[in-house]
Amino acid sequence: MHEFSVVLNLIEKVVEEAKKRDAKRVIEVELDVGQLSFLNPEQMRFAYNVLSKDTILENSNLIINTVDARVRCGVCGFDGKPDYADDASYHISAPLFLCPICGNPVEVIEGKGCIIKRVRLEL
Ligand SMILES: [Zn+2]
Repeated sequence: MHEFSVVLNLIEKVVEEAKKRDAKRVIEVELDVGQLSFLNPEQMRFAYNVLSKDTILENSNLIINTVDARVRCGVCGFDGKPDYADDASYHISAPLFLCPICGNPVEVIEGKGCIIKRVRLEL
């Protein structure tokens, strides 16, 4: 499952940060998850609960914010939400986004990844 490897990576980063600051435990982790990251929040919570066991993150609160996609068109300069059809292929492979103004393929500049926005530690 994709979510498990993402969450594992995330937990490792938080543990590293907590160690650096000599924290007793992690209280809360807040994530920004892109609309196009194909990460399921429910699966992420499940992975988080399983993988945080016996770590400094055990019993901490996980907040997941969904971030809308943003694209930029190199042809006409459009900057904003992409235009895409919600068809079956959307859930299988990464969709091709088209500019809603001129119809050319656009570059995704936001909404693809998963980033740690905030971590609350007990020192
Ligand atoms: Zn365009």
